[in-house]
Amino acid sequence: MADALVRTYELSIDCHLDRALLESEGIETQVLFDHFLTLDPLMAQACGGIELRVSQANLERAIQLTEKNVSTVTLENCPRCNSQNLTYDWRKLSNIADWFIFIICFLLGVYPLKYTNVRRCNNCNHCFTFEE
Ligand SMILES: [Zn+2]
Repeated sequence: MADALVRTYELSIDCHLDRALLESEGIETQVLFDHFLTLDPLMAQACGGIELRVSQANLERAIQLTEKNVSTVTLENCPRCNSQNLTYDWRKLSNIADWFIFIICFLLGVYPLKYTNVRRCNNCNHCFTFEE
């Protein structure tokens, strides 16, 4: 029974990297809200993110293993302040084409097809793409 929350994720791939790590160590896992938030990522803030759960007995070991995994995977720094305290975010609507697409998608009630994932620094609030 996976009843203890290890951590939450914004992206499915990050969650499944940790899930694979835990299962390779023999820890049974459960992933919640994965499909729902992959189909509609705008609901991630409302649901609290994709949840990775394990049994209460394996919780401490799972947290230790996933913290190691995060520290080895995080290779990006903020170009302004060199912080590694980064989160995924959406690119802001910065030009007329972005606003036009947003309005059309809003009026049609469809998911915006043109969007860009960016990283947002939690220290200085700077947004940048992976190539910057
Ligand atoms: Zn920064």
